[in-house]
Amino acid sequence: MAKTQSFADKATKAAAMKGAKCPTCGGIYQPLLVISSERSKVSSSIKFNERRVQVCKCNEKQIYS
Ligand SMILES: [Zn+2]
Repeated sequence: MAKTQSFADKATKAAAMKGAKCPTCGGIYQPLLVISSERSKVSSSIKFNERRVQVCKCNEKQIYS
């Protein structure tokens, strides 16, 4: 019984993390991996920067433009 309870607990917490809501628009944040390339002035090689962003209605226009 104790095991079942703790599993349900974890599932609830995971769901809460996934469904993080934006306080401004009330939309659910969608995690998105944005990769941008940057050319180094010194070695002329290309460096890739990865960053994770949380997208909602407030910033989707900036990110997808
Ligand atoms: Zn928002």
